Amino acid sequence: MGIWNVVFFAIIVFSIIVFLAWFFERMQWNDGICGNCNNPWVYFDTDSQGGRGYKCKNCGNVVWISWPFIDTMKVKNGQTDNRKE
Ligand SMILES: [Zn+2]
Repeated sequence: MGIWNVVFFAIIVFSIIVFLAWFFERMQWNDGICGNCNNPWVYFDTDSQGGRGYKCKNCGNVVWISWPFIDTMKVKNGQTDNRKE
């Protein structure tokens, strides 16, 4: 029983960490809008890990999104997805 309790606990902890990391990026992404000046993010690069870099052309703010389902979600105000591809 002991080992399975540890495995179960590890899975729970890992899930929480993943959720928090995802949630934090989701917060930074802010529905595709720069939190400083309400301008839409503009895609500029993808790093070697597959993280997508977005920049605000107005204030120079940069956000890196590495988790899925964040920058592919529909953004508010009917704005279109900024991703290349
Ligand atoms: Zn901005």
